[in-house]
Amino acid sequence: MSRRRRQIYEGKAKILYEGPEPGTIIQYFKDDATAFNAQKREVIDGKGVLNNRISEFIFERLGGIGIPTHFIKRLNMREQLVRQVEIIPVEVIVRNIAAGTMAKRLGIDEGTQLPRAIVEFCYKSDELGDPLITEEHIAAFNWAGPQEMDDIMAMALRTNDFLSGLFAAVGIRLVDFKLEFGRHYENDMVRTVLADEVSPDTCRLWDMKTDDKLDKDRFRRDLGGLVEAYQEVASRLGILNKSEPQKGGKPVLVKSDRAEAANSGEKK
Ligand code: 5GP
Repeated sequence: MSRRRRQIYEGKAKILYEGPEPGTIIQYFKDDATAFNAQKREVIDGKGVLNNRISEFIFERLGGIGIPTHFIKRLNMREQLVRQVEIIPVEVIVRNIAAGTMAKRLGIDEGTQLPRAIVEFCYKSDELGDPLITEEHIAAFNWAGPQEMDDIMAMALRTNDFLSGLFAAVGIRLVDFKLEFGRHYENDMVRTVLADEVSPDTCRLWDMKTDDKLDKDRFRRDLGGLVEAYQEVASRLGILNKSEPQKGGKPVLVKSDRAEAANSGEKK
């Protein structure tokens, strides 16, 4: 991989580089952890590798049930090739159980089962701290059109149903998560696709038996053991091979044929 490729954007947890072909981007997963709008930050060895693998797994599964995504293929331990999209400046949060900012805002005990899945929207702005907004703001400021909002709602709820089942099958409760969507332009056509990442950085995942947190709240709340928790998620999803010795506490990754082909530069 050329070291001279052009950097397009550096975010808190990822760097985007120009991809090998027009309309493609390389998404690099950093080890940096940030919280509270980057007021708290730390480098956590191994986090980027795990998020790359977990997000790949989830995007491939979502693609498999017909949800259009930006994901093309994983390139190596820290990078994936994705389609270039215009990011819609709205973060979509889906909640099944009260936690985090919603529990605080409404004075509901964390862990309370919600009567139905609740979708919230935040305006994507680091300067403003991603404020909560309504569909009225989205329409009035034309951040997304009515058709895009229909597509986003349908994809967010379908993703929630699918991922709730996927995680429940491995003893994990999907408490809430954040999605980002983008516009993919292709031959005069524009399509709304799921973008960014879906990983323990962007979801709340609780162990069903113990209620242990297996997500970024371990960092936000100074609980420690973040990499071990992400490894546990990867291992339960069948991404990590737990039986292999974990040299130096680093994750041992199971290599798929497809990943090996991608690593050797072979085109699939
Ligand atoms: P809350 O609003 O409770 O802080 O977050 C709700 C869910 O969305 C959590 O799973 C959280 O990880 C995710 N989330 C919301 N905003 C962001 C964000 O800016 N970055 C990341 N990584 N996750 C977010």
